[in-house]
Amino acid sequence: MALADVNKQINNCRKCRLRQGAKQAVPGEGPANAKVMLVGQNPGAEEDKTGKPFIGRAGKFLNKVLAKNGIRREEVFVTNIVKHLSPENRKPLPDEIAACAPYLEEQIKTVKPKIVVLMGKVAWQAPRVEGVTYVETYHPSAAMRFTKMRKRFEEDFNDLQKRL
Ligand code: SF4
Repeated sequence: MALADVNKQINNCRKCRLRQGAKQAVPGEGPANAKVMLVGQNPGAEEDKTGKPFIGRAGKFLNKVLAKNGIRREEVFVTNIVKHLSPENRKPLPDEIAACAPYLEEQIKTVKPKIVVLMGKVAWQAPRVEGVTYVETYHPSAAMRFTKMRKRFEEDFNDLQKRL
């Protein structure tokens, strides 16, 4: 399936309750042939306003860590495990994750990245596609706040750069 068709399905989706509180879907963005896909938890308020993933404080921190490792944000595909804002930024519930997971799976199958980086415990539940390497790290918003997590997060992106 083409990425535009997946986006269309996401934009029209009403499969879970998250749709009701959101202004719009945030399907994700990046090259259709990106070697790396980054997956977070859910879009936040800024993302809901603009339809773009990871543009708030956590996104800026993520961009900094990418740049530090010689990776341009424009060359990676960035998305979340659920595509609509969750109320008060709460963790998506298991049934919401289950409803949304097929879109992420389709995105992975379409983009065919070499590596998918799952950022945060919720994202660790992402569907696995054969032939793709998965890396589990912390969510950038946790890495921003806690030194130990930041160290591990930065190490994981440093390793990622070496694998590309
Ligand atoms: S979060 Fe996912 S499953 Fe739920 S309405 Fe949005 S696109 Fe559909």
